[in-house]
Amino acid sequence: MKTTLIIGAGAAGSVTLKKCLMNAETFGELHLASRTLSKCQKLKDDTNGPFKIHQIDADDTEDLIKLMQKINPTITINMALPYQDLSIMKACLAVESHYVDTANYEPKDEAKFSYKEQWAMNDEFKAKNLIALLGSGFDPGVTGVFTAYAQKHLFDEIHEIDIIDCNDGSHGHPFATNFNPEINIREVTQKGKYWQNGHWIETAPMEISKDIDFPELGPRKGYLLYHEELESLVKNVPHLQKIRFWMTFSDSYITHLNVLQNIGMTGIKPIDHNGQKIIPLEFLKTILPNPSELGENYNGKTCIGCVFQGIKDGNPTQKTIYNITQHQTAYKETAAQAVSYTTGVPAMIGAKLILDQKWTLTGTRNIEEFNPDPFMTELNNQGLPWKTI
Ligand code: NDP
Repeated sequence: MKTTLIIGAGAAGSVTLKKCLMNAETFGELHLASRTLSKCQKLKDDTNGPFKIHQIDADDTEDLIKLMQKINPTITINMALPYQDLSIMKACLAVESHYVDTANYEPKDEAKFSYKEQWAMNDEFKAKNLIALLGSGFDPGVTGVFTAYAQKHLFDEIHEIDIIDCNDGSHGHPFATNFNPEINIREVTQKGKYWQNGHWIETAPMEISKDIDFPELGPRKGYLLYHEELESLVKNVPHLQKIRFWMTFSDSYITHLNVLQNIGMTGIKPIDHNGQKIIPLEFLKTILPNPSELGENYNGKTCIGCVFQGIKDGNPTQKTIYNITQHQTAYKETAAQAVSYTTGVPAMIGAKLILDQKWTLTGTRNIEEFNPDPFMTELNNQGLPWKTI
């Protein structure tokens, strides 16, 4: 009998939970654990789902191990925050559970994400015959699967990759982030970085932008960001000469962000407020709209994909693989907006392929290391159809 534990009852975790319930034959006995039990209870009430709920502080490895010893999960899907990656991975090793996440480890006191610490656990996962699947959201996640698919079927050599991410939707709020505000703002306010001819090139935050012709949307202004899948793709794609990540932001988003930065509201160091220590970005998260509640009035769609350039049969070739997700379609199925949906569904798919034993490489693995074909099939079956042009 298989047992699945999902940690994190937030915007994306709620989608993963609902998609696991829709694929119940794979996931077996289902458990949801999160910091705030009432959020788990609400999901249980909303879905009337046959799963058990638990309160847990996933920063505390010992408590996690105690809970996981009772549940005995075959697989643990980490839908909490990047801060918890290492503690959850340690607990998975202790109880011998496979592990899946959607974001690489980031210490709370420094906005600096990297796979280094997670890759360092490779031998321990291998020794126990366990899989730690790192980055099984959309980006990272599906973008790595698209790359593995292009490498396997469309190119002899991939030379350049531009990952392009556009949320062309409108949620009706003056300012809101589409996933956890703290993590989102830490990501977009750090320096940009891309990789060319074996070297990383750093830019000021949002320094480089250009018009990108998004499939089915047309030209939109994209900003060059550093994004975590670049770190693994430069290792895992042979012949690669250049890789960049582009994300669109509305002028209004950028104006709000600039103001918030200028007045210190995005700071991550504690400050003294009326005798209490508070972290400005944590306070900002408290007052911003909750990404899990944006869905109902969200219109428009997301377009995320990869533009590849390289060689096929001796000829220079360019291909784009992408997905379009409508916010309202996602909302009707899971009560979530498209950004949570495009994160939560691939997390379920990655876990499904491990439980179905279609993916069997042990150790800490990035998603592009696995055979992309079953994942590409599942994307079409599970609500994230893709196209190649
Ligand atoms: P949310 O803030 O909506 O959800 C996070 C959940 O984790 C919350 O329920 C929160 O509990 C819970 N949590 C936080 N800390 C702890 C803890 N110490 N112990 C137990 N539970 C905890 O975030 P999102 O759903 O928007 O994002 C989830 C993850 O998805 C993030 O890591 C994010 O970076 C990643 N992501 C990945 C993407 C991709 O494409 N790869 C895209 C978008 C997001 P509480 O409710 O009490 O706050």
